[in-house]
Amino acid sequence: MTTNNKPMTVAIIGGGFSGTMTAVQLMRKAKHPLKVILIERNERIAKGVAYGTLCPLHLLNVPAKDMSALPDDSQHFFKWAKEQDPSVTEATFVPRMRYGAYIEHILNETLSHKASTIEFRRLQGEVKSIQIANDGKSGCIHLSYGEQVVADRIVLALGNLAPANVRIRDPKFYATANYVRDSWSKAALPKLSADAPILLVGTGLTMIDKALELKLSGHKGTIYALSRHGYLPNVHIPGTVRLPVPFEPNKLPSTVLALTKQIRQLVKNVEASNEANWRQAVDSIRPVTQELWQLWNNTEKKRFIRHMRCIWDVHRHRIAPEVGAMIDTMIKAGQLKIIAARVIAIEEDGADITVTISPRGKNKEEVLNVKRVINCTGADSNVKTIDEPLVEHLRNTGLLCADTFGLGPTITNDWALVDKQGKASSVIYVVGPLLKGQLWESIAVPELRGQASQLADHLITSPLCHSEQREESAATKGSSS
Ligand SMILES: Cc1cc2nc3c(=O)[nH]c(=O)nc-3n(C[C@H](O)[C@H](O)[C@H](O)COP(=O)(O)OP(=O)(O)OC[C@H]3O[C@@H](n4cnc5c(N)ncnc54)[C@H](O)[C@@H]3O)c2cc1C
Repeated sequence: MTTNNKPMTVAIIGGGFSGTMTAVQLMRKAKHPLKVILIERNERIAKGVAYGTLCPLHLLNVPAKDMSALPDDSQHFFKWAKEQDPSVTEATFVPRMRYGAYIEHILNETLSHKASTIEFRRLQGEVKSIQIANDGKSGCIHLSYGEQVVADRIVLALGNLAPANVRIRDPKFYATANYVRDSWSKAALPKLSADAPILLVGTGLTMIDKALELKLSGHKGTIYALSRHGYLPNVHIPGTVRLPVPFEPNKLPSTVLALTKQIRQLVKNVEASNEANWRQAVDSIRPVTQELWQLWNNTEKKRFIRHMRCIWDVHRHRIAPEVGAMIDTMIKAGQLKIIAARVIAIEEDGADITVTISPRGKNKEEVLNVKRVINCTGADSNVKTIDEPLVEHLRNTGLLCADTFGLGPTITNDWALVDKQGKASSVIYVVGPLLKGQLWESIAVPELRGQASQLADHLITSPLCHSEQREESAATKGSSS
């Protein structure tokens, strides 16, 4: 086979939503021969951390009408979910595991309709390193079980990486069996007696997941959930009102203070008119959140991260009303205790764990006695310190460098990875939550579906493809004339 006829190979590392949908979009959009390799370390693809859950109490935190995986067909998920279960309405918060089945369905459908010139390969294994060819035009991916894969383009769709350990006096505890760092792993709950007190570090969405899982498993012991402010995610109130973006084009607030003032005023106005509530006001800036983030200078970004992040998170990332009601019941029954405090030390003595905390607004430290500590602080994206083998390798070889705020790697506007020397890669691209440093809002399906589509467009029209297409069409012309 000559170079001219060689299809472009795109290898995608990570088979969660972002990786799977990038593969789907590539296969749907490609007009020329293409080989797509989807690499996932876990057995199942299309699920990822969020939709691989087996707990039926884990619901989507976005209503069905907004969860289409296809940017050009907004009703796609709703229609699919309704076909599966006629009781689903646009406002239903569907179980997350069903969403995983939806993504799997899209992948299977794409595979059954793809052109014969499109090849798809799925590999199960962990990618530990990538070596870029001397000419900088391709990369060799090394998998944990020894296989090597050469690709013209490599997409990092690594998603939600395990949370960082919270800093404590002596980190020795983190090596013990009663500490669970990755709460999404299957090993978080087994071998725990039903009345054992537990500490969940974090009070956000991951904590909510774990508390519900404990409830479903019949756990009776006290569950302490702790974070510096003790804020819980707010609850959605179903409603169809969608407010327009509250800023005139080209007049986005250029400071955090200006944004805060304008949002406060907007909330006042909409609540006074009884037309909507603060939720719709917060949602109204969603279409321009990325633009706002990119407009702000580093001082404003820093200010937002320091002062507004935790407030933003609990207002922007809300939970389904059913989930809110279950959590409320657990709190009222005294089983779930929310604490605003800092963890100072965690020590283990036999099966007993002593957690020293510094409660917010008090001068005196307090102690919690528990049997297990589960880290629920959420995904870590600070590539400067992340200890995942692939990220460590990319960092150590200088292929990747952290962005200013530790939110992800530095990347270009078309999401190519930028190396330590500041040079954009022509091989490695990033999609998904690791784009947070560049976009801030890069977590949920409404953004990620667009990213998968945009990246696919970019990759199939990138210079490699162009030159090959040119060579190919020249060759085709030559042979037919
Ligand atoms: C618990 C939870 C619930 C959520 N709920 C919602 C929701 O209801 N609605 C919504 O819109 N968004 C939700 N989100 C946001 C979520 O981040 C996105 O919707 C989406 O699932 C992210 O997909 P991803 O593929 O980017 O990441 P992930 O789902 O994290 O997938 C990344 C995949 O990459 C694999 N991987 C990583 N490194 C390697 C490697 N070196 N080699 C091989 N494989 C590797 C991992 O095993 C993983 O399967 C939720 C997130 C979480 C964590």
